[in-house]
Amino acid sequence: EELRGEVAPNKLPRQVPGYHYSRIDPTPVADPHLLAWSDDLAAYLGLDRPAERGLAVDALAGNRVTDSMKPFAARYGGHQFGSWAGQLGDGRAISLGEVTAVDGSGWEIQLKGAGPTPYSRRADGRAVLRSSLREFLCSEAMYYLGVPTTRALSLVGTGDQVIRDMFYNGNAKPEPGAVVARVAPTFIRFGNFQIMTATGEMDNLRALADYVIRHHYPELGEPSPQVYLRWFEEVCRRTAVMIAHWMSVGFVHGVMNTDNMSILGLTIDYGPYGWLEPYDPDWTPNTTDFSSRRYAFGQQPHVGLWNLYQLARALAPLVANVEDLNIGLELYRTTMATTQHQMMMRKLGLNTEGQDDHQLIESLYEALAEAAVDMTLFFRHLSHVASDLVSSPGNEDARFQELLAAAGYPELSGRSQLLLEWLSRYAARVRQEPTGSTAIREGMLRVNPKYVLRNYLAQQAIEAAEAGDLSFLNRLMQVLKTPYDEQPEHDDLAAKRPAWASDKPGCATL
Ligand code: AMP
Ligand code: MG
Ligand code: MG
Repeated sequence: EELRGEVAPNKLPRQVPGYHYSRIDPTPVADPHLLAWSDDLAAYLGLDRPAERGLAVDALAGNRVTDSMKPFAARYGGHQFGSWAGQLGDGRAISLGEVTAVDGSGWEIQLKGAGPTPYSRRADGRAVLRSSLREFLCSEAMYYLGVPTTRALSLVGTGDQVIRDMFYNGNAKPEPGAVVARVAPTFIRFGNFQIMTATGEMDNLRALADYVIRHHYPELGEPSPQVYLRWFEEVCRRTAVMIAHWMSVGFVHGVMNTDNMSILGLTIDYGPYGWLEPYDPDWTPNTTDFSSRRYAFGQQPHVGLWNLYQLARALAPLVANVEDLNIGLELYRTTMATTQHQMMMRKLGLNTEGQDDHQLIESLYEALAEAAVDMTLFFRHLSHVASDLVSSPGNEDARFQELLAAAGYPELSGRSQLLLEWLSRYAARVRQEPTGSTAIREGMLRVNPKYVLRNYLAQQAIEAAEAGDLSFLNRLMQVLKTPYDEQPEHDDLAAKRPAWASDKPGCATL
């Protein structure tokens, strides 16, 4: 074994110096039953849909550990909200081992909510149905949107009640528990490296870096001080691409602590995430972040850099000259800028590079914030308006007013002057495109999703599931598989959020 694992003597919380992970079994639950299943992912992994109850679902709940499984909880640390938090680790996630997909690639299966581990600190190792359902739905929705992400294979109800000391429906009450089986090439995070450097475990730091490079970045070659640098650059590049995707679809992660940053540049740990509805760079779904707004939508590119800086500090002992780690950080900046720019150009249907396009895009951000229109609806409707502007000029003002009404939140802002001015500029600009109107529309519809997992939709799926009705969850799963398709029979799932949902924050996850 390349990494060091201890055989955990018990499940009591403690520091685990000297090890990368602890071998520990999941704790069985009362009555495992399948609630949701990702057919496409399962087919890719060569797995059949199991019956509602039985051996397979027992395994997915942690009730059955077979000989081929090597369950473990990883040790990691992290910066939480800007402060070093020391050892954290998989406090409620237990990996069962790896399965091989039909293309030969290896995928780690990790149960979240599988019971206590040495890293559970003061908590119970469990997860409630609402947070598990949110993680399950969103991982898959992000995948189908084309955003780099970990996946979710199954959502299993445990038959146990879980108590969360927080306000939900007005008071702390027992809630149904659940376990999500998450899937990724690895769940290693920035924090796995940080804990090694923080505790001075240089051999373990190097072993972990070598392991990640050999298994997940083999194209970089055998580890060496030079290869560590190239690898860090690649982590920076991927992290930038991931966050640029978030910005492009209006996703707010909500808890970008360094323990929630994947070393593969995948979106990981879906907690109090949310989707931007009225455009607002200061919006966060995380109620514990309402005062500082550290992880608000518009902060994400900056926080990605801050987190990579912490990773650079953790990797510094591996390289000859720490200054060289700046190359990766600089690559992050340039990749973020160019990727965000290219993505926005595509969202606007602009395939050629115009002289004033950077300025056009900058003023769009400003105008969107002033008008506080629904981000998803605005770009989706713009896709149609843009092609109309090209194919049949004239009647612009009426079209713009229609667009604002379709995407508008007059109850929030009522200020649309900047956006109307911007639309006139845009109309002139898009007409300079050599591309035909049909191609413009089709290109825009492929990058401006119609369906995203709006907070109130997830909430409705949760409330129905808690009442034993999985039909809305199933419908959402189905529709979110092709989020760029019209699917007119599901228009109600693409609607501006209703007034009753306007102050519902994303659900916290603990
Ligand atoms: P998060 O904020 O969800 O990324 O979690 C931060 C840390 O708290 C991680 O080490 C988690 O494993 C741990 N944690 C969160 N919820 C629980 C829980 N219910 N039981 C045990 N550990 C938990
Ligand atoms: Mg986490
Ligand atoms: Mg979490």
